[in-house]
Amino acid sequence: MTTATGTDALRALALSAGRDLEEASASEILSWAAETFGGRFCVTSSMEDAVVAHLASRALPGIDVVFLDTGYHFPETIGTRDAVQAVMDVNVITLTPRLSVAEQDAEYGPRLHDRDPDLCCAMRKVAPLDAGLEGYDAWVTGLRRDESPTRAGTPVVAFDEKRGKVKISPIARWTQEDVEQYVAEHGVLTNPLLMDGYGSVGCAPCTRRLLAGEDTRAGRWSGRGKTECGIHT
Ligand code: SF4
Repeated sequence: MTTATGTDALRALALSAGRDLEEASASEILSWAAETFGGRFCVTSSMEDAVVAHLASRALPGIDVVFLDTGYHFPETIGTRDAVQAVMDVNVITLTPRLSVAEQDAEYGPRLHDRDPDLCCAMRKVAPLDAGLEGYDAWVTGLRRDESPTRAGTPVVAFDEKRGKVKISPIARWTQEDVEQYVAEHGVLTNPLLMDGYGSVGCAPCTRRLLAGEDTRAGRWSGRGKTECGIHT
């Protein structure tokens, strides 16, 4: 396991790994992460599916899987989280915002997600994640290049300058078909909403079903001129 935990060392490590692992399989990338970081890396999951958590648990059984409970999730998403914890060899960690939805409504007015979704995401997603990642050197995402134009340049390993961590996206090169094949082959848990017309699953007030021919993320913040929550920007 590496002893490189300083910011400069992690940045150098991320840059070289990003080059060396570009053509590596998702399993190889996660094995590298397990060997390099041991328990100092985690997976983040929106509980849309458990593909990356499944891959990571094979590389490091018992790995931490971080889930952001914004207070606005569909019941199916919470159910998926509970099922993942029950049946997979992972340690699910649920992060919550500083304010409950009721407290946020009292302080900022109801339905902040309609009026200022960037502020809502900053408080309910970005801030809890930033705090939750403090104890790790690296984090794993499920970002894929084919999800949307804004994700087309996702590196498999990069340095997350904002948080000072190595950011690993082991399925960046996968297609939607690759995901579906992995789910079928390994019987991986998926959010039931994916079978109900949703292409990507986020908070209920900001997620709608897809229309024919749309990108998988087109149902997120539809009509609000927003495509990302701020975690990955
Ligand atoms: S996705 Fe919508 S409800 Fe969820 S935190 Fe962002 S703005 Fe708020």
